[in-house]
Amino acid sequence: MQNTLQHTAFNVEKVRADFPILKVHVNNKPLVYFDNGATAQKPTQVIDAIAKYYYEENSNIHRGVHTLSQKATTHYELARTTVQKHLNAADVNEIIFTRGTTESINLVAHCFGKLFIKAGDEIILSEMEHHSNILPWQVLCEERGAVLKVIPVTENGELNLEEYKKLLSDKTKLIAVTHVSNTLGVVNDVKEIIAAAKQKNIPVLLDGAQAIPHMVVDVQELDCDFYCFSGHKIYAPTGIGVLYAKAKWVEKFEPYQTGGGTIKTVTFEKTVYVDGPLKFEAGTPNIEGAIGLAAALNYLNEIGLDTIAAYENELVHYATEKLKQLPGVKIYGDVKDKAAVISFNVNNAHPFDVGTLLDKQGVAVRTGHHCNQPLMQCFNIPGTVRASFAFYNTTHEIDVFISALEKAIKMLL
Ligand code: PLP
Repeated sequence: MQNTLQHTAFNVEKVRADFPILKVHVNNKPLVYFDNGATAQKPTQVIDAIAKYYYEENSNIHRGVHTLSQKATTHYELARTTVQKHLNAADVNEIIFTRGTTESINLVAHCFGKLFIKAGDEIILSEMEHHSNILPWQVLCEERGAVLKVIPVTENGELNLEEYKKLLSDKTKLIAVTHVSNTLGVVNDVKEIIAAAKQKNIPVLLDGAQAIPHMVVDVQELDCDFYCFSGHKIYAPTGIGVLYAKAKWVEKFEPYQTGGGTIKTVTFEKTVYVDGPLKFEAGTPNIEGAIGLAAALNYLNEIGLDTIAAYENELVHYATEKLKQLPGVKIYGDVKDKAAVISFNVNNAHPFDVGTLLDKQGVAVRTGHHCNQPLMQCFNIPGTVRASFAFYNTTHEIDVFISALEKAIKMLL
């Protein structure tokens, strides 16, 4: 496959060779995988790290004196350090392993809510949140008699920050917004959001599920209180994710779930919990997931996230220009600052029909509401077709996608 992007010092064929699944055929056509926003494919480096763990080290962690257990413990804790460095967190104890973004957000809603939310308090979200960053807050508000406030989205798919600032008040207890929209790819000005919140001393949670694969994230520079992401969207396995929480919250929060691994001492009268992230990692954790996540982050850092971002930016602009030339295509969130995601519809065709016709031609895209029903209501549509790219995608694949879409459009008109 030829890559026609000239300006980037990036060998896409070399990285493609690291992803065995890209050689798969779907419906007798070479796979074109443009569903990276849902989950990304895994490189051999990640698959091998997990296999090595099972072939050579499988053992439970933290409580064993034997060699395998100590090796597994070391690698699990090294993975935590790898995440800390990746996010530039001040302290390794600010990194909590979870099952993914959804669990990270639930953990904060539960622990923060228990300590700090009472009747009449307000929590600010935005109209473009994934359901995973709506439901935990909605449940919390219902339980406590608190109120959800929603930052509106403008017609071109950006957050209306003027309206956001008007929502801030003495009642606001927390702001939870997405760093990058999963449907639109729009990159939110989270620095401005955080700066306005800090003036009132309000903590901010960022849902980083769609940002983390595409850009350098520095939690100290952002000065956010919480940052959440999922391993599987950043080339690591499913079932592992991260909650970054500033040390003061790690200290203040009580355990989210309780059980083995979280305690210093237990009697039937009283339990004393450990300090730090283990307080939130009850039971045997996803050891191979953490090891796979560290392998994925090391792999990405070898390529360089800036290189990845520049290349993906070229891909998204190349695809956007091609899409705009097709009749009846409407793109949502066509703004300058966006990650490698494009959402669109074709005339009145249902997104499922477009997606099915693309799949017949080997092109995997996502269709529907993308767990963004309030955003769909804002645009008054049932859903979109979403093409989301990774650094292993090529302009050739975009050309295949565009000609497959042209065929689909002819069939649907
Ligand atoms: N937040 C955003 C912005 C997402 O895109 C997703 C998944 O698509 C999630 C949260 C939930 O992630 P997970 O299902 O990995 O917990």
